[in-house]
Amino acid sequence: MNAINFLETRQLIGSTQRPRAIVIGSGFGGLAAAIRLQLRGWQVTVLEKLDAPGGRAYVHRVNGHVFDAGPTIITVPALLEELWQLAGQRLSDHVTLKCLDPFYRIRFDDGDHFDYSGDVERMRAEVRRISPSDAAGFENFMREADDCHRRGFEVLGTRPFNTVVDLLQALPAIARMRGWRSLHQMVAGHLKHPKLRMAMSLQSLLIGGNPYSVTCVYSLVNALERQFGVHWTMGGTGSLIQGMVKLLESLGGQLRCNAEVARIDVQDGRASGVTLANAQNLYADIVVSNADAAWTYKNLVAPELRSSWTDRRIARGRYSMSLFVWYFGTDRRYDDVPHHMMVLGPRYKELLTDIFKRHRLSEDFSLYLHRPSATDTSMAPPGCDTFYVLSPVPHLDSGTDWKKHAEPYRQAVAQALERTVLPGLSQHIREGGGIWSGALAAAKRLFPTAQPQ
Ligand SMILES: Cc1cc2nc3c(=O)[nH]c(=O)nc-3n(C[C@H](O)[C@H](O)[C@H](O)COP(=O)(O)OP(=O)(O)OC[C@H]3O[C@@H](n4cnc5c(N)ncnc54)[C@H](O)[C@@H]3O)c2cc1C
Repeated sequence: MNAINFLETRQLIGSTQRPRAIVIGSGFGGLAAAIRLQLRGWQVTVLEKLDAPGGRAYVHRVNGHVFDAGPTIITVPALLEELWQLAGQRLSDHVTLKCLDPFYRIRFDDGDHFDYSGDVERMRAEVRRISPSDAAGFENFMREADDCHRRGFEVLGTRPFNTVVDLLQALPAIARMRGWRSLHQMVAGHLKHPKLRMAMSLQSLLIGGNPYSVTCVYSLVNALERQFGVHWTMGGTGSLIQGMVKLLESLGGQLRCNAEVARIDVQDGRASGVTLANAQNLYADIVVSNADAAWTYKNLVAPELRSSWTDRRIARGRYSMSLFVWYFGTDRRYDDVPHHMMVLGPRYKELLTDIFKRHRLSEDFSLYLHRPSATDTSMAPPGCDTFYVLSPVPHLDSGTDWKKHAEPYRQAVAQALERTVLPGLSQHIREGGGIWSGALAAAKRLFPTAQPQ
């Protein structure tokens, strides 16, 4: 970095005496890191390559329909509340969260469904309706999930795992949870009915993990949902992003959109700033990249500055699934469709094997259907509904030719919805072309796995 750029950069980022931090990416992670750094005395600039903040929580607005591109389920609002509290403010000053009931409906391929809620009595009744002999097993499952929550989330979840010693210290807790079992193995140890096994294990898919491979520690998601609820951000998940941006700006931090980082600059073995795609240099005392980790190392750090160990780890990394998402609006409301619904197909384990292991695009699918206008009329024009439907698919390294497959796949998904939960859909689609693949390229990330079953 030369002296002129250095001075220009200082003028650009601000003239305070605080040490400077650059955060790459304005998704939840980048914004949360920026807020915490700003509170700790850094002068923070968040750099975002897109025209608006949010990352995977970007928002598309089309003729009165508000489409949240990705996240829709808020599970632990306490973690968000903490950010505002640290700043002496309240989450409710910027964001309104609503706890949903039921959390979601799981529709099985035979038309039966399981309403999944935080009301334990109603959950017990649902379990007994489907399989009376699984009632006791369900109690044991909940107990074990609660234990995984205590050990895996409250204790291990708050610790960094930077060194071998950190890992060794975690081993006793992992051994007590018998964390070498897959989530599905653990669930199947308590529940016999295939529908209940699906209903209690599919939660890991919400965070990109195959229930047949991820460690049973992920049963903590079940406990988290029961303890904290499943929430919706009124106005859409994008409102939460806007709230975080306001919080950051109220603390003196700043967000710059349309600012793509081309390179993290390094001097004397330390990050010293970034170079933007327009060749502008920005100086910083620290750089935090909240773009995907493997992508950051491969694309933003010069090869000669990466250790061979880092390169090997990236090359060996196993990727999660991708998601095919179709966003559409209807000119009528489907009031018997709840806010969140899983529409399961005929196969469970085999479909997951196609997605995660064989990396093959199947003809059948299991879907997550999002209907935000069920809870929040601001998400659609009057008398209309806003939807997105999401299908887990093999990740992009599978070589699936999406240019060829996307439209037939979308049509197959639309037909399946019309046959099952959205009768007459083809006559009522109001918006729905052009942005169906929005989240596809974004949904590829590293995910820890237990031993395959
Ligand atoms: C379809 C879908 C549904 C999901 N549903 C849920 C859900 O219901 N609940 C839930 O909790 N999670 C959900 N997730 C996961 C959740 O969206 C992510 O975990 C979360 O949004 C990740 O946030 P992040 O800030 O870590 O990363 P991202 O949101 O990916 O943000 C990274 C940001 O970095 C920017 N960036 C990258 N490179 C550069 C660069 N060189 N220069 C400048 N900027 C750059 C990107 O543009 C992006 O804005 C879902 C994900 C998807 C795709």
